[in-house]
Amino acid sequence: MRWDAAARTDRGLRRARNEDAFALHADAGVYAVADGMGGHAAGDVASRIAVETLERAVAAAPGAVPERLADSVRDANRAIREHADANPETAEMGTTLTALALADAGFVIAHVGDSRCYRLREDALEQLTTDHTWVQAQVDAGILSPEQARHHPFGSVLLRSLGSADDVEVDTLSGPVRPGDLFLLCSDGLTGMVDDADLAAMLRQPIPLDALAEQLVEAANLRGGVDNITVVLARVVEEA
Ligand code: CA
Repeated sequence: MRWDAAARTDRGLRRARNEDAFALHADAGVYAVADGMGGHAAGDVASRIAVETLERAVAAAPGAVPERLADSVRDANRAIREHADANPETAEMGTTLTALALADAGFVIAHVGDSRCYRLREDALEQLTTDHTWVQAQVDAGILSPEQARHHPFGSVLLRSLGSADDVEVDTLSGPVRPGDLFLLCSDGLTGMVDDADLAAMLRQPIPLDALAEQLVEAANLRGGVDNITVVLARVVEEA
């Protein structure tokens, strides 16, 4: 199998800077989105370190990336901590990191934070990752409805991120891939603006991934664009 891919990142309409970063290595089948945060304008440093750590893993041993994906996320956490120790003005920085590796044997996801990985399969959209947010924890506990969580003032409070502690718990998921599977990695600048029903409708369109990535960013901006928006799309294609 092989993989088509496309990505876009956009500052949005309200933020002065873009603190998101992404990785796209279609040859290696490795993709990631990182959404940086933190005082003193260091969010972009954290998200860049996260993505660069993953890129180094791809460069060093592309075949080992799927089995080492969670280790790479922990490596990224360590690199961010080391940078913050050496540069105290960046001490508060952190980032999400949602990484996807595709191989003939299947997909692997390693995930920390509130960026997301969705999969469209046979026209059904499924959110594969769980947000590590305070509101998601309230939903899981039955205290808030998903709709209440969506509009909650604490909606962006993260319970887990890279950079906040020496150790980080990394969610991992894996499973088989099928031709036609379409994976979307995105930052909350997309999902905060575009709900799952609208996302599904857009992802079902039989259009090139480049045009689709562009359309997703435009949709977030049309609905207000309050945050940085990053989308990475990867589609599994059967080899002819
Ligand atoms: Ca964000």
